[in-house]
Amino acid sequence: MKNLFIIYTGGTIGMVQDETGTFVPFDFDLIKANLPDLSRLDYKITVHSFDPIIDSSNMNPDIWLQMAELIQTNYALYDGFVILHGSDTMAFTASILSFLLEGLQKPVILSGSQLPIGEIRTDARENMMTALEIASAKHNGMSIIQEVCILFDNKLFRGNRAFKYNSAKFEAFRSPNYPVLVEAGIHLKYNLESLLNNSDKDLVLHNRIDNRVGVLKLFPGIRPETIKAILNADVRSIVMETFGSGNTTTDQWFLDLLKQAIDGGKNIVNISQCKVGSVELGRYETSQGLKAIGVLNGYDMTFEAAVTKLMYLQGETDDQAKVAFWIEKDIRGELTVND
Ligand code: ASP
Repeated sequence: MKNLFIIYTGGTIGMVQDETGTFVPFDFDLIKANLPDLSRLDYKITVHSFDPIIDSSNMNPDIWLQMAELIQTNYALYDGFVILHGSDTMAFTASILSFLLEGLQKPVILSGSQLPIGEIRTDARENMMTALEIASAKHNGMSIIQEVCILFDNKLFRGNRAFKYNSAKFEAFRSPNYPVLVEAGIHLKYNLESLLNNSDKDLVLHNRIDNRVGVLKLFPGIRPETIKAILNADVRSIVMETFGSGNTTTDQWFLDLLKQAIDGGKNIVNISQCKVGSVELGRYETSQGLKAIGVLNGYDMTFEAAVTKLMYLQGETDDQAKVAFWIEKDIRGELTVND
């Protein structure tokens, strides 16, 4: 019998409507009551509920660290882990866990739903059952999935490659820069060549996060004062969301501001506002200058992966140069280097 560990953090999956009609989180009993099939499964399931149960918009680094520690503490006892979580910030949690839990040999699958489990047309049952099935799947005694993933609407995504793109459809997530890992139809179709293989590794928990990260999203007409305020904030690194394949204005005042910040010890990481494709520094004249002043290449990282990877790397070291070095490297399958 497979042994699975469910971590319940909250989210729509277990919500009920209060007297005003607003969705509020409810305890795991609601999920159990609406999922009689749980007891028919051939798994031994242990549930850990966070207290309080939250809407994932209230997620924070303390809870991330608690989750990572919980998985490490229970790692040897279970075949797989399923985290029930609101979809709003699920991609951030999946991304940071992928960095905090190095060398995972067992699945950590986040899932939730767009409609509460008590609603007739809910997507919660399918999502949860499929997540449990994939979390228990083994081949030759090893877990098939050895990484942090998101299961939503019959698709399993690499956690640090996915983002919530739709708040209305059951198909809430996409990962356009990386193939879907499993498609659940009549059969579960594993995309074996796209999976991480950590068979030769041991789990290492990293338990520090430094959230001194800022975000600079560019738009034509952005004022120098706005940019200065972000660059001068008390942060060690800034994720800069640029146009197309990593382009920005070539105005000298703009490049001078970035250069000043970099020379002053800040890391600036270039990712694109486009959801598909990668930053290619130097492809256009409008990104050539960035490379010259030391802007770092975020390649095809999602926003969620870039922000949480910086938090993780900064937690690991006070050395800005080391953060700068590792942000451009693929460490958990989160980016594809294209140069
Ligand atoms: N607001 C909810 C949450 O993220 C949405 C969801 O669960 O899908 O907790």
